[in-house]
Amino acid sequence: MFRIAYVNGRYLPHAAARVHVEDRGYQFADGVYEVCEVRHGRLVDERRHLDRLARSLSELRIAMPLARAALGVVMRETVRKNRVRDGIVYLQVTRGVASRDHGFPPPGTRPSLVVTARAIDPVKQAALAEAGIAVVTVPDNRWERVDIKSIALLPNVLARQAARDRGAREAWFVDQDGLVTEGSATNAWIVTAAGRIVTRPAEFGILRGITRAVVLEIAAKQGLKVEERPFSVAESHAAREAFATAASQIVMPVVEIDGRPIGDGRPGPVARALRARFHDSAECS
Ligand code: PLP
Repeated sequence: MFRIAYVNGRYLPHAAARVHVEDRGYQFADGVYEVCEVRHGRLVDERRHLDRLARSLSELRIAMPLARAALGVVMRETVRKNRVRDGIVYLQVTRGVASRDHGFPPPGTRPSLVVTARAIDPVKQAALAEAGIAVVTVPDNRWERVDIKSIALLPNVLARQAARDRGAREAWFVDQDGLVTEGSATNAWIVTAAGRIVTRPAEFGILRGITRAVVLEIAAKQGLKVEERPFSVAESHAAREAFATAASQIVMPVVEIDGRPIGDGRPGPVARALRARFHDSAECS
Protein backbone atom coordinates (compact mmCIF):
# COMPACT_ATOMS: atom_id res chain seq x y z
CA MET A 1 0.00 0.00 0.00
CA PHE A 2 1.16 3.56 -0.74
CA ARG A 3 2.18 5.12 2.58
CA ILE A 4 3.13 8.62 3.72
CA ALA A 5 5.34 9.62 6.64
CA TYR A 6 5.65 13.02 8.28
CA VAL A 7 9.31 14.01 8.80
CA ASN A 8 10.23 17.41 10.23
CA GLY A 9 7.53 19.45 8.54
CA ARG A 10 7.07 17.44 5.35
CA TYR A 11 4.77 14.62 4.30
CA LEU A 12 6.91 12.23 2.26
CA PRO A 13 6.37 8.91 0.50
CA HIS A 14 7.22 6.28 3.11
CA ALA A 15 10.03 4.82 0.98
CA ALA A 16 11.70 8.24 0.75
CA ALA A 17 11.24 9.26 4.41
CA ARG A 18 14.67 9.81 6.00
CA VAL A 19 16.38 11.27 9.05
CA HIS A 20 20.01 12.40 9.07
CA VAL A 21 22.77 9.92 10.09
CA GLU A 22 23.63 12.26 12.96
CA ASP A 23 20.11 12.33 14.32
CA ARG A 24 20.54 11.65 18.02
CA GLY A 25 17.77 9.08 17.90
CA TYR A 26 19.85 7.07 15.45
CA GLN A 27 23.17 7.67 17.26
CA PHE A 28 22.14 7.45 20.93
CA ALA A 29 18.46 6.40 21.09
CA ASP A 30 18.11 9.92 22.51
CA GLY A 31 14.39 10.37 22.09
CA VAL A 32 10.88 9.32 23.03
CA TYR A 33 7.78 8.03 21.28
CA GLU A 34 4.06 7.54 21.59
CA VAL A 35 1.61 5.13 19.98
CA CYS A 36 -2.06 6.05 19.79
CA GLU A 37 -4.82 3.74 18.66
CA VAL A 38 -6.84 4.84 15.62
CA ARG A 39 -10.41 3.62 15.66
CA HIS A 40 -12.96 4.42 12.98
CA GLY A 41 -10.53 7.11 11.79
CA ARG A 42 -10.40 8.83 15.18
CA LEU A 43 -7.60 9.05 17.73
CA VAL A 44 -8.13 7.17 20.99
CA ASP A 45 -7.01 8.93 24.18
CA GLU A 46 -5.00 11.58 22.33
CA ARG A 47 -5.06 13.87 25.37
CA ARG A 48 -3.46 11.32 27.70
CA HIS A 49 -0.90 10.25 25.10
CA LEU A 50 0.15 13.87 24.53
CA ASP A 51 0.29 14.43 28.31
CA ARG A 52 2.63 11.45 28.61
CA LEU A 53 4.68 12.65 25.63
CA ALA A 54 5.12 16.06 27.29
CA ARG A 55 6.21 14.35 30.51
CA SER A 56 8.69 12.01 28.78
CA LEU A 57 10.18 14.99 26.91
CA SER A 58 10.45 17.14 30.00
CA GLU A 59 12.16 14.32 31.96
CA LEU A 60 14.80 14.20 29.21
CA ARG A 61 14.92 17.99 28.76
CA ILE A 62 13.89 17.82 25.12
CA ALA A 63 11.61 20.61 23.86
CA MET A 64 8.14 19.86 22.47
CA PRO A 65 8.73 19.89 18.70
CA LEU A 66 5.36 21.57 18.00
CA ALA A 67 2.50 22.99 20.03
CA ARG A 68 0.09 20.29 21.21
CA ALA A 69 -2.69 21.39 18.88
CA ALA A 70 -0.29 21.26 15.92
CA LEU A 71 0.85 17.77 16.94
CA GLY A 72 -2.79 16.69 16.92
CA VAL A 73 -3.20 18.13 13.43
CA VAL A 74 -0.09 16.29 12.15
CA MET A 75 -1.24 12.98 13.69
CA ARG A 76 -4.70 13.32 12.10
CA GLU A 77 -3.28 14.38 8.75
CA THR A 78 -0.89 11.40 8.76
CA VAL A 79 -3.80 9.09 9.57
CA ARG A 80 -5.90 10.66 6.80
CA LYS A 81 -3.16 10.59 4.16
CA ASN A 82 -2.53 6.90 4.90
CA ARG A 83 -6.28 6.17 4.83
CA VAL A 84 -6.05 4.40 8.18
CA ARG A 85 -9.47 3.64 9.59
CA ASP A 86 -8.34 1.22 12.28
CA GLY A 87 -4.72 0.92 13.35
CA ILE A 88 -2.11 3.04 15.06
CA VAL A 89 -0.36 6.37 14.71
CA TYR A 90 3.29 6.44 15.82
CA LEU A 91 5.02 9.64 16.88
CA GLN A 92 8.73 9.96 17.65
CA VAL A 93 10.69 12.95 18.91
CA THR A 94 14.48 12.97 19.24
CA ARG A 95 16.93 15.58 20.49
CA GLY A 96 17.66 16.47 16.88
CA VAL A 97 20.62 16.41 14.52
CA ALA A 98 24.05 17.44 15.80
CA SER A 99 27.68 16.49 15.51
CA ARG A 100 28.17 13.29 17.54
CA ASP A 101 28.93 14.11 21.16
CA HIS A 102 27.33 12.43 24.16
CA GLY A 103 26.51 15.70 25.93
CA PHE A 104 23.50 17.72 24.84
CA PRO A 105 23.83 19.48 21.45
CA PRO A 106 24.15 23.28 21.21
CA PRO A 107 21.13 25.32 22.37
CA GLY A 108 18.74 25.90 19.51
CA THR A 109 19.19 22.40 18.02
CA ARG A 110 15.71 21.55 16.85
CA PRO A 111 14.12 18.28 17.98
CA SER A 112 13.29 15.87 15.14
CA LEU A 113 9.68 14.81 14.72
CA VAL A 114 8.53 11.76 12.77
CA VAL A 115 4.91 10.60 12.54
CA THR A 116 3.73 7.45 10.75
CA ALA A 117 0.43 5.57 10.67
CA ARG A 118 -0.51 2.06 9.73
CA ALA A 119 -3.64 0.00 9.51
CA ILE A 120 -4.26 -3.01 11.74
CA ASP A 121 -6.98 -5.40 10.62
CA PRO A 122 -9.64 -5.31 13.38
CA VAL A 123 -10.98 -8.71 12.30
CA LYS A 124 -7.55 -10.30 12.76
CA GLN A 125 -7.10 -8.52 16.10
CA ALA A 126 -10.49 -9.76 17.28
CA ALA A 127 -9.58 -13.31 16.21
CA LEU A 128 -6.32 -13.05 18.16
CA ALA A 129 -8.20 -11.86 21.24
CA GLU A 130 -10.69 -14.72 20.83
CA ALA A 131 -7.81 -17.20 20.85
CA GLY A 132 -5.68 -15.42 23.47
CA ILE A 133 -1.90 -15.22 23.43
CA ALA A 134 0.99 -17.10 25.03
CA VAL A 135 3.51 -15.25 27.21
CA VAL A 136 6.95 -16.24 28.50
CA THR A 137 8.78 -14.67 31.43
CA VAL A 138 12.28 -13.17 31.13
CA PRO A 139 14.55 -11.32 33.58
CA ASP A 140 13.97 -7.56 33.69
CA ASN A 141 17.35 -6.12 32.73
CA ARG A 142 16.21 -2.58 31.85
CA TRP A 143 17.30 0.76 33.27
CA GLU A 144 15.37 2.38 36.14
CA ARG A 145 13.62 5.07 34.11
CA VAL A 146 11.19 2.83 32.25
CA ASP A 147 8.48 5.35 33.17
CA ILE A 148 9.91 7.44 30.30
CA LYS A 149 8.64 6.18 26.95
CA SER A 150 12.14 6.18 25.50
CA ILE A 151 13.06 4.82 22.07
CA ALA A 152 15.96 2.95 23.76
CA LEU A 153 14.20 -0.41 23.54
CA LEU A 154 16.98 -2.98 23.16
CA PRO A 155 15.98 -5.09 26.21
CA ASN A 156 12.37 -4.99 24.98
CA VAL A 157 13.46 -6.05 21.50
CA LEU A 158 15.44 -9.00 22.90
CA ALA A 159 12.59 -9.96 25.22
CA ARG A 160 10.03 -9.93 22.40
CA GLN A 161 12.33 -12.05 20.24
CA ALA A 162 12.88 -14.47 23.15
CA ALA A 163 9.08 -14.81 23.26
CA ARG A 164 8.94 -15.52 19.53
CA ASP A 165 11.77 -18.03 19.78
CA ARG A 166 9.71 -19.88 22.40
CA GLY A 167 6.51 -19.76 20.33
CA ALA A 168 4.89 -16.97 22.36
CA ARG A 169 3.66 -13.48 21.43
CA GLU A 170 4.79 -11.48 24.43
CA ALA A 171 7.44 -11.59 27.16
CA TRP A 172 6.76 -10.48 30.72
CA PHE A 173 9.73 -8.99 32.54
CA VAL A 174 10.43 -10.33 36.04
CA ASP A 175 12.40 -8.38 38.65
CA GLN A 176 15.05 -9.76 41.02
CA ASP A 177 12.38 -10.71 43.57
CA GLY A 178 10.53 -12.92 41.09
CA LEU A 179 7.79 -10.30 40.61
CA VAL A 180 6.36 -9.48 37.20
CA THR A 181 6.98 -5.87 36.15
CA GLU A 182 5.37 -5.54 32.71
CA GLY A 183 5.49 -6.85 29.16
CA SER A 184 8.01 -5.94 26.46
CA ALA A 185 5.38 -3.57 25.03
CA THR A 186 2.36 -4.11 27.27
CA ASN A 187 1.27 -3.87 30.90
CA ALA A 188 0.68 -7.17 32.70
CA TRP A 189 -2.41 -8.24 34.64
CA ILE A 190 -3.82 -11.31 36.36
CA VAL A 191 -7.18 -12.23 37.87
CA THR A 192 -6.71 -14.30 41.03
CA ALA A 193 -8.71 -17.39 41.98
CA ALA A 194 -10.66 -15.08 44.30
CA GLY A 195 -11.60 -12.90 41.32
CA ARG A 196 -9.36 -9.93 42.15
CA ILE A 197 -7.75 -8.04 39.30
CA VAL A 198 -4.06 -7.47 40.05
CA THR A 199 -1.54 -5.22 38.31
CA ARG A 200 1.73 -3.70 39.43
CA PRO A 201 1.56 -0.11 40.74
CA ALA A 202 2.83 2.42 38.22
CA GLU A 203 4.84 4.70 40.52
CA PHE A 204 8.10 3.32 39.13
CA GLY A 205 9.45 0.20 37.46
CA ILE A 206 6.87 0.17 34.66
CA LEU A 207 5.47 2.46 31.99
CA ARG A 208 2.28 4.21 33.05
CA GLY A 209 0.23 2.66 30.28
CA ILE A 210 -2.66 4.75 29.01
CA THR A 211 -4.68 1.59 28.34
CA ARG A 212 -3.85 0.48 31.88
CA ALA A 213 -5.26 3.75 33.26
CA VAL A 214 -8.48 3.41 31.24
CA VAL A 215 -8.90 -0.24 32.30
CA LEU A 216 -8.50 0.78 35.96
CA GLU A 217 -11.26 3.37 35.45
CA ILE A 218 -13.57 0.81 33.83
CA ALA A 219 -12.91 -1.68 36.64
CA ALA A 220 -13.67 1.00 39.26
CA LYS A 221 -16.90 2.00 37.50
CA GLN A 222 -18.00 -1.63 37.37
CA GLY A 223 -17.22 -2.19 41.01
CA LEU A 224 -14.63 -4.87 40.20
CA LYS A 225 -12.07 -5.58 42.89
CA VAL A 226 -8.64 -4.30 41.88
CA GLU A 227 -5.34 -4.59 43.73
CA GLU A 228 -2.46 -2.46 42.50
CA ARG A 229 0.42 -4.55 43.82
CA PRO A 230 3.24 -6.60 42.37
CA PHE A 231 2.45 -10.26 41.64
CA SER A 232 4.88 -13.18 41.34
CA VAL A 233 5.45 -15.51 38.43
CA ALA A 234 4.09 -18.36 40.57
CA GLU A 235 0.94 -16.33 41.23
CA SER A 236 0.53 -15.69 37.51
CA HIS A 237 0.83 -19.43 36.79
CA ALA A 238 -1.94 -20.10 39.33
CA ALA A 239 -4.17 -17.22 38.16
CA ARG A 240 -7.70 -17.73 36.96
CA GLU A 241 -7.07 -15.32 34.10
CA ALA A 242 -4.32 -13.12 32.74
CA PHE A 243 -4.20 -10.34 30.17
CA ALA A 244 -1.97 -7.69 28.66
CA THR A 245 -2.86 -4.09 27.79
CA ALA A 246 -1.48 -1.62 25.25
CA ALA A 247 -2.86 0.97 22.85
CA SER A 248 -2.10 -1.29 19.88
CA GLN A 249 -4.08 -4.24 21.24
CA ILE A 250 -6.34 -2.86 24.00
CA VAL A 251 -7.02 -5.80 26.32
CA MET A 252 -5.40 -8.99 25.07
CA PRO A 253 -6.25 -12.20 26.94
CA VAL A 254 -3.24 -14.33 27.95
CA VAL A 255 -4.02 -18.04 27.92
CA GLU A 256 -0.58 -19.51 28.57
CA ILE A 257 2.43 -18.39 30.65
CA ASP A 258 5.73 -20.27 30.35
CA GLY A 259 3.95 -23.14 28.64
CA ARG A 260 1.34 -23.55 31.41
CA PRO A 261 -2.34 -22.97 30.62
CA ILE A 262 -3.96 -20.14 32.59
CA GLY A 263 -7.36 -21.05 34.01
CA ASP A 264 -9.04 -23.34 31.50
CA GLY A 265 -6.59 -22.23 28.81
CA ARG A 266 -9.11 -19.91 27.14
CA PRO A 267 -9.70 -16.14 27.37
CA GLY A 268 -11.45 -15.41 30.65
CA PRO A 269 -14.67 -13.46 31.24
CA VAL A 270 -13.01 -10.50 32.99
CA ALA A 271 -10.54 -9.86 30.16
CA ARG A 272 -13.24 -10.33 27.56
CA ALA A 273 -15.60 -7.92 29.29
CA LEU A 274 -12.89 -5.27 29.78
CA ARG A 275 -11.98 -5.56 26.10
CA ALA A 276 -15.61 -5.28 25.02
CA ARG A 277 -16.22 -2.18 27.15
CA PHE A 278 -12.91 -0.43 26.56
CA HIS A 279 -14.06 2.07 23.96
CA ASP A 280 -17.06 3.15 26.02
CA SER A 281 -14.57 4.70 28.45
CA ALA A 282 -11.65 5.73 26.20
CA GLU A 283 -11.74 9.26 24.76
CA CYS A 284 -12.11 9.33 20.96
CA SER A 285 -11.43 12.58 19.12
N1 PLP B 1 4.67 -1.11 28.82
C1 PLP B 1 5.56 -0.96 27.82
C2 PLP B 1 6.99 -1.32 28.06
C3 PLP B 1 5.14 -0.48 26.57
O1 PLP B 1 6.04 -0.33 25.58
C4 PLP B 1 3.78 -0.18 26.36
C5 PLP B 1 3.30 0.31 25.08
O2 PLP B 1 4.03 0.45 24.13
C6 PLP B 1 2.89 -0.35 27.43
C7 PLP B 1 3.37 -0.80 28.64
C8 PLP B 1 1.43 -0.04 27.26
O3 PLP B 1 1.22 1.36 27.24
P1 PLP B 1 -0.03 2.00 26.53
O4 PLP B 1 -1.24 1.36 27.14
O5 PLP B 1 0.07 3.44 26.82
O6 PLP B 1 0.09 1.67 25.07
